[in-house]
Amino acid sequence: MMKVLEKQRLQNQIALVTGASSGIGSGVAKALAADGATVVVNYASSASGAEKVVKEITDMGGKAVAIRADVSKEDQVLEMYRQILEQFGTLHILVNNAGLQKDAAFVDMTLEQWQYVLDVNLTGQFLCAREAAREFIRRGVQPEISKAAGKIICMSSVHELIPWAGHANYATSKGGVMLLMKTIAQELAPHKIRVNSIGPGAIKTPINHEAWETPEAAAKLLTLIPYNRIGEPADIGEAAAWLASDESDYVHGITLFVDGGMTLFPGFTANG
Ligand code: NAD
Repeated sequence: MMKVLEKQRLQNQIALVTGASSGIGSGVAKALAADGATVVVNYASSASGAEKVVKEITDMGGKAVAIRADVSKEDQVLEMYRQILEQFGTLHILVNNAGLQKDAAFVDMTLEQWQYVLDVNLTGQFLCAREAAREFIRRGVQPEISKAAGKIICMSSVHELIPWAGHANYATSKGGVMLLMKTIAQELAPHKIRVNSIGPGAIKTPINHEAWETPEAAAKLLTLIPYNRIGEPADIGEAAAWLASDESDYVHGITLFVDGGMTLFPGFTANG
């Protein structure tokens, strides 16, 4: 059960979390709300999932609303931002979290599977970040609210670094997110916009349920995680709240891996 934090680092800030009706997005939405932000819970299709997250936040004394938009569609992203600006006047934090997998062996992968994953995981992050940056630049820094004009957090993956057989579309999208994040971090820094990524390892969510659901699958997964624990959405929520806060004001253009050590090449632990 979440509780509103006593020391709230994100007070008077408006945050948009895409794909927040489940999994990591819901964990991030709750963590930002616990830290004082008013959270826009974006969802693509699950209105009930989004309303459940909104209710959990409001039940704990936080503020949230749900707004529907497919992040891969420019007109829907523009309409979502129009609604946010109309309701709240501005935006301070974007967490570009929406993402999906359409797995296939490379030789069997259809153009549709390839394109769909790139559209949501990469183009979706481009569209949402562009609209956020436009608003951050328009408004500028509000020193009483945050040292930065705005914060963008891209949900990447350990697979921006680790190749992943059977997931060429997904790994490519996350590799793309890495250079999108770094490029816009470079470009937007003069506007006092901070841009970073989080690279989750294995987190228990619907996207990868077959990897942790059974004891056998979980045991196999743990061989890839030196810290010997499968992650929870709250692990990512904590990292996102810190990255969105002024405590990380000098952190810019990095991927923060939150992965229990998955990126430490654990296959080499016993002398390779
Ligand atoms: P999830 O399936 O629970 O969440 C993904 C969310 O994105 C869902 O709510 C889904 O409805 C939403 N979404 C999909 N297409 C959308 C669209 N077009 N527009 C708006 N929303 C859309 O899975 P998750 O694990 O919580 O994934 C969240 C993010 O974390 C993804 O970017 C994923 O790649 C990344 N990630 C997850 C893990 C993990 O182990 N779970 C690891 C690394 C990275």
